[in-house]
Amino acid sequence: MSQEFSSLTAVVTGGASGIGAAIAAMLQAMGAQVAVLDLNPTNLPKGQLGFVCDVANDASVKAAIEGTVAAFGGIDIVINNAGIGSQGTVEDNDDAEWARVWDINVIGMVRVSRAALPHLRKSSAAAIVNTCSIAATAGLPQRALYSATKGAVLSLTQAMAADHLRDGVRVNAVNPGTADTPWIGRLMDQADDPVAERAALNARQPHGRLVTAEEVAGAVAYLASPLAGSTTGTSIAVDGGMQALRLRPV
Ligand code: NAD
Repeated sequence: MSQEFSSLTAVVTGGASGIGAAIAAMLQAMGAQVAVLDLNPTNLPKGQLGFVCDVANDASVKAAIEGTVAAFGGIDIVINNAGIGSQGTVEDNDDAEWARVWDINVIGMVRVSRAALPHLRKSSAAAIVNTCSIAATAGLPQRALYSATKGAVLSLTQAMAADHLRDGVRVNAVNPGTADTPWIGRLMDQADDPVAERAALNARQPHGRLVTAEEVAGAVAYLASPLAGSTTGTSIAVDGGMQALRLRPV
């Protein structure tokens, strides 16, 4: 893959940090015009368009999608990547927390896809890639809400793939394992000994280290590219073998 995305335009939600930033950089390096939709799209690399956008707010999403179309003339690729974490069992999180996280992790992807689909239908290389997680199917302890949102993202991906097949819009997902991003950095920093915590986390991974954001971006780039033109309704695990070994990242 080199200039697979030349003359194509891409929207990346949550593209100002971590996995999203790596995806935005990779698509741009492969020739795409990239718009980043993020709560805080500051300090983007040169050449990327940034929109302050909250995927939990429909008006904000519509404005950013229309702004992208005004700037680029259309949208070929949507990367639904924005997401947040939540810890605890069903007894720990009340309805308000369930609504807050669901609104971002699941309905956020619905809002962005709904606003972008009229434009994607006009593209000859249309693709949506959703950032899911191995949490979708792993049964992670202390992550009931987060896991449920990612399970929903997986089934949403499959249903949308079926619905939009005849529109020429492919819909796929990636399932990262524990990836080395600012999100995981924040979790490590909460530990009494962040260095020891990180070493222990690395040791729990089947291949002895965290997944990199670039490795996730590589799978996303493939699924978004015309090389995956016959691939829809599926997902790629980028987890160092965690799912294959039936392990859980705990
Ligand atoms: P991150 O916190 O480094 O980056 C997330 C980005 O999303 C931030 O720039 C943030 O501002 C943005 N964002 C958050 N809420 C938003 C909203 N309402 N509207 C718009 N933007 C918003 O996180 P990351 O680790 O890069 O995670 C990205 C995605 O990958 C998430 O969907 C996450 O669930 C998924 N994921 C991460 C891991 C991991 O180990 N890091 C593993 C599996 C899946």
